[in-house]
Amino acid sequence: MDLETLVALDRSLVWHPYGPMPATQQPLVVESAAGVRLRLAAPAAGSTELIDGMSSWWAAIHGYRHPVLDAAVQDQLGRMSHVMFGGLTHEPAVRLARTLVDITPDPLGHVFFCDSGSVAVEVAIKMCLQYWRSLGRPSKHRLMTWRGGYHGDTFHPMSVTDPEGGMHALWRGVLPSQLFAPPPLVAFTEAYVATFAELLARHADEVAAIIVEPVVQGAGGMRFHDPAYLRALRTLADEHDVLLVFDEIATGFGRTGTLFAADQAQVTPDVMCVGKALTGGYLSMGATLCVPRVAEGISRGETPILAHGPTFMANPLSSAVANASIDLLLSSDWSSSVKRISSGLASGLAPARDVPGVADVRVLGAIGVVQLDHEVNVPAATRAAVERGVWLRPFRDLVYTMPPYITDDVDVDQIADAVVAAAAAG
Ligand SMILES: *Cc1c(COP(=O)(O)O)cnc(C)c1O
Repeated sequence: MDLETLVALDRSLVWHPYGPMPATQQPLVVESAAGVRLRLAAPAAGSTELIDGMSSWWAAIHGYRHPVLDAAVQDQLGRMSHVMFGGLTHEPAVRLARTLVDITPDPLGHVFFCDSGSVAVEVAIKMCLQYWRSLGRPSKHRLMTWRGGYHGDTFHPMSVTDPEGGMHALWRGVLPSQLFAPPPLVAFTEAYVATFAELLARHADEVAAIIVEPVVQGAGGMRFHDPAYLRALRTLADEHDVLLVFDEIATGFGRTGTLFAADQAQVTPDVMCVGKALTGGYLSMGATLCVPRVAEGISRGETPILAHGPTFMANPLSSAVANASIDLLLSSDWSSSVKRISSGLASGLAPARDVPGVADVRVLGAIGVVQLDHEVNVPAATRAAVERGVWLRPFRDLVYTMPPYITDDVDVDQIADAVVAAAAAG
């Protein structure tokens, strides 16, 4: 297909994320990708290759066309791409379940596979609500969270996403009404915990679970908080007979500097969601883990089954590449890579502090954020980054990056320059 036709058809037929139809901004056409570079079908602002500063939204931690991951997919293709998971099972899924149980905090011990992060959150919520139903307490059906979160785009995840970010005003009367504490502060304060505790105490009879993103709130605003808050949530959840869910879809697999963000607090949630980097960014897959207490509670109930079963549950290709990606991660010195990227971003983004319109610069793990005091002009900011050979996707008041762990120092510098330039232009 020639490029002009492709772009015209894309505009008239294809919906892109968070966009109108037809699109008002023209996307760049990617022809292929390798390592940390996206190759464009036509040069943009003089570049035919862009360093991917986004890891395709947290996912491509090993970069593109990694020989080990490519081989894992090809090997699995030679056996089977897919079989249903009802009544059948296969080694890639069983192996992946064992690995996930091994590397996540104890006693998370059971795994439900699904096809995306949002569905992993749906399943987590279904587990929690059904747990209390099974125990004869159906009034515990609401969720509590803190503001500033993001948990996906289907309706229940949207209901616990930040009310503004989740456009709750647009969905009044449709979204279930959940309980929101103020956004967590960067630093730990007893006063914040007291506020959270007070709201929870008032509604404990109707709250099934607390759900939060541990340590880093991603698409809800790229905010960081003290892991000590997670210990406080664990204590409060136990005191008030409420389950605790960690959504590690963005933070999982090393991004924040520990394998899971929960590790920073030494806290085990009752239910945990993973996705995004699970398959190294190759294929869509999510998983929901739970502790034995939750599984046993559900299985002792009047309806002793978890009524959920996506068509592509535990897809063998996805499972195989997830196994390869986790093996690759654990056999590499990922922790040093994340530290190296972290310090590269910290020094490279420092000049942004002197850029007019910049409100905050922050780095945690392999995540760098420049927050503006105004809404980003996305086309101008994107163009400034592309002119410096880097792909970024700013949103709201944020220009941010979370590069693949294989990004070398020179490329990290270039990404940081591009973030600073995008912040200045946007
Ligand atoms: C991306 C994300 C989701 C949703 O995952 P999808 O695969 O896009 O459905 C949920 N929670 C968090 C924290 C995320 O970052």
